[in-house]
Amino acid sequence: MVLLAVSCVGGQQQNAAYRAANYAKNGPRFKALLFYSDHEESAHVQFAHQGIAFFRKLTVGEGFEVDSTQTLDGYTLEQLQEYNVIVALNAYPSRQARPLFEQYMDNGGGWLGFHAAGYNDPSTGWPWYVKFLGGGVFKCNNWPPQPALLELDVTDHPVTRNLPASYVAPTSEYYQWSPEPRENPDVEVLVSLSSRNYPFGLKDIIYGGDFPVVWTNKNYRMVYINMGHGNEQFTDATEQLLFINAFRWVVSRDPAGDPFDR
Ligand code: ZN
Repeated sequence: MVLLAVSCVGGQQQNAAYRAANYAKNGPRFKALLFYSDHEESAHVQFAHQGIAFFRKLTVGEGFEVDSTQTLDGYTLEQLQEYNVIVALNAYPSRQARPLFEQYMDNGGGWLGFHAAGYNDPSTGWPWYVKFLGGGVFKCNNWPPQPALLELDVTDHPVTRNLPASYVAPTSEYYQWSPEPRENPDVEVLVSLSSRNYPFGLKDIIYGGDFPVVWTNKNYRMVYINMGHGNEQFTDATEQLLFINAFRWVVSRDPAGDPFDR
């Protein structure tokens, strides 16, 4: 008992010293902007709030700085470019902010978008955004939200290489697109919904078809992740690792240099 107690105290002291040294070593490497809206479907707002908590938690030790905003209106390009990455949790730019966002992305900006942030349909009226996302327009969804078996399309990519070849992702709503982003040669699909899920859904049922859920448009520093509906998305370690990998990869490709190499 005594030996154990002494050892435990010693370990704590060592940890405290290590942490202090580690904290002092590097200042924040970059800034991230969490972009969300409270005026969306409640399940998308739930996800956004959990996402804010998730990304804020990753700043422990001040590895990076994070701000959050419900609008891009009013930012100048210079102000937006202070951020290495915009994490779009459930929101997309207003009509007013569209040119700003286009300029930001066309000039090397970073974007990690989840679920509703990529939603668009024929009424959206923003061809640039559709092209940016890989060309797909919303076709259909499963309902109700549910877990799904996902499969990696590539296993040697920085976003996927430490993930299992397949895993069951927590409850979410998934969007299927037309045309499928995989048909676009500029798109690299990283993760797809397994065809073993079909028929997928109870009320709204998807019976088949190609179903990418995580991809990058190689013309931009971006990753789109279709998950992001409800309050169960952060309950799975594999999925959390995927989110961190995607965030880290987008950040690392900053044209000004990889912040993690500094
Ligand atoms: Zn949804």
